[in-house]
Amino acid sequence: MKYGKKIVALAGGVGGAKLADGLAQCLEPDELAIIVNTGDDLEHLGLSISPDLDTVCYTLAGLANPDSGWGRDQESWRTLEEIKKLQGPDWFAIGDLDLATHLERTRRLREGQTLSEITAHFCRRWGIHVPIFPMSDTPVRTYVHCQDGRCLAFQEYFVKYHFEPQIRSIEFENMKNAVVPEKALTALKNADFVLFCPSNPFVSIDPIIQIEAIGSIIAQKKVIAVSPLIGGEALKGPAAKMFHELGMKPGSSAVADHYRAILDLFVLDHKDEAQIALIEGWGIICKALDIFMPDRLARKRLAGQILKILDEQT
Ligand code: GDP
Ligand code: CA
Repeated sequence: MKYGKKIVALAGGVGGAKLADGLAQCLEPDELAIIVNTGDDLEHLGLSISPDLDTVCYTLAGLANPDSGWGRDQESWRTLEEIKKLQGPDWFAIGDLDLATHLERTRRLREGQTLSEITAHFCRRWGIHVPIFPMSDTPVRTYVHCQDGRCLAFQEYFVKYHFEPQIRSIEFENMKNAVVPEKALTALKNADFVLFCPSNPFVSIDPIIQIEAIGSIIAQKKVIAVSPLIGGEALKGPAAKMFHELGMKPGSSAVADHYRAILDLFVLDHKDEAQIALIEGWGIICKALDIFMPDRLARKRLAGQILKILDEQT
């Protein structure tokens, strides 16, 4: 059944992909579009890799590893073992099935196709009907400035150093030259609601919304965000640690505060209900739901509840 309104969801990797999958289970393909962070992209072993884009696509296609949330299900690691044997750069784990994605993406990019064209083609081949767009067809790269003075490319910080270094600030290289796919801009312009998935605010959502062409449209839209933190903690990754290191107490209200200027609605977990009054004091409508999504059914349930809340707004 049709929902009757159009949603654009912004997503990073694992957390974003879960709710994106829930929305895809509830909406018709012409009612949903997903714009994905590409600040995490890297060149590795000569290949162009888009980790967040792949996580979202694998998840929606039902191909993702259900335990880690990233990479492919039923994966094998024979290539990586050989790279290790040859003392190649083995810190970034690429499975054999995943490797095919990167090889074919890289080949098509070299042929002159854009990342959004390649993503659309891959989605067709993987049976995904919802449009998924990279935030930019040109490279934008996230760098982490550490408190020890180092400046690390995002995947070095995240994977090689297991997000152990303390961060001082985050920088998005080439953001000014970002080229947002035309169809992504059209989807945004036509959207009734923009939804920030429960992704890392600093390194998954910020890179998307700080692109001028995207941010300027979002400023005109009704925006809802779902907290990636439950009880002040991240379910995975450095989101809570980053709040701390950037001088803020990690929590759902800190997430809402981070987005305060553009947010109309916010969803946090029942565990964080005590923060509702504070957030509503900022003029943001705030609702508590069970926002933990351990399986596909939980994703669908949460997406359905969020769509109901949005419906009540109009
Ligand atoms: P990454 O690019 O793979 O790091 O993924 P994202 O930025 O999209 O997501 C990371 C965030 O997802 C973390 O801060 C997690 O706390 C959050 N997350 C993961 N699983 C869940 C979940 O089931 N519910 C909610 N609300 N957040 C989640
Ligand atoms: Ca990511």
